[in-house]
Amino acid sequence: MDCIDLAADPAVVRVAQEGIGVALSLAHSPSYQVERFEHLSQAPWLMVSLNDGEDPHFRKAQFDPQKCPPDCPRPCALVCPVSAIANDSEDVALTGVWAEKCYGCGRCLPICPQGIITTYSHQATVTSLLPWLESGQIAALEIHTQVGHGEQFQQLWRNLQPVLPQLQAIAISCPYHSQVVEYLQTIAVGLGQLTIPLIWQTDGRPMSGDIGRGTTHLCLHYADLVLQSGLPGFVQLAGGTNGHTITKLRGQNSPPARSREKRIINGVAFGGGARTLIAPVLQTAAARQQDPLAPIHLEDHPDLLQQAITLAQSLVQPWKTRVTIAG
Ligand code: SF4
Ligand code: SF4
Repeated sequence: MDCIDLAADPAVVRVAQEGIGVALSLAHSPSYQVERFEHLSQAPWLMVSLNDGEDPHFRKAQFDPQKCPPDCPRPCALVCPVSAIANDSEDVALTGVWAEKCYGCGRCLPICPQGIITTYSHQATVTSLLPWLESGQIAALEIHTQVGHGEQFQQLWRNLQPVLPQLQAIAISCPYHSQVVEYLQTIAVGLGQLTIPLIWQTDGRPMSGDIGRGTTHLCLHYADLVLQSGLPGFVQLAGGTNGHTITKLRGQNSPPARSREKRIINGVAFGGGARTLIAPVLQTAAARQQDPLAPIHLEDHPDLLQQAITLAQSLVQPWKTRVTIAG
């Protein structure tokens, strides 16, 4: 991968840096037996996300476990893709939602028969990012916006002006909407002259890549619209990407499909699809620990690390041989 997209949370940034450090040290360790590390020659960029208002990427679920009927079959726990809600009565009674695991996908909200699950939002500020930007730890920012957030976006963009010289790229992520291209065109005018790469993330159906192969259609359609609009910048698929995305993109391997692939797809962002792919490996690692919530160090489990790398490569490798990544 070329870039890791992170929440603007010091703990998350620290863990990412730690993980990259471990990966680089393994890559340079002749004694380590994990194969195919040789491709890892430099650290990927860290990209931190900012939002210009309410956004599903910046929310977490919550409920009061004391309100749960004892005989509830806990569909909330079953539907959660990252096991942020324990399927054990004692743990649920103690914790409700584990905030550090919840990424705000919202699937638990409608499934609760008591309707007691709600969400709370958090908004990252430019000021909170300054120490990382000034120390060069963050290479890029991703701004999450939505159709109708024009004024909020402009305010955020004004606040970002002092930090732009420290950045190597800016990504703008916006969920699909029937008016999305018009909205992005308005935003593009307001950006002025940029001297760093601009990436449009076509967030078709946010955080849905693990639901099934059909989720990929919308982000591809959205990417087509952005291409046709002539918006300046690179296009990165997001929101619904998974292992089927490249197959769908190639279509029947027809010349138009190949041409389209070469012209427009500068990158792909994997979120839910990647999480689901790697989750069984992390669950196995957690099961080997006494405390399942303790930090997992895959490097302590060479067999699991190898599995995780193989799975990750199955997702990333087809793209790395096909596309040019922005930046
Ligand atoms: S919002 Fe999504 S990640 Fe968070 S607890 Fe609910 S199902 Fe799990
Ligand atoms: S589905 Fe609702 S009532 Fe049942 S355990 Fe989950 S939060 Fe509690």
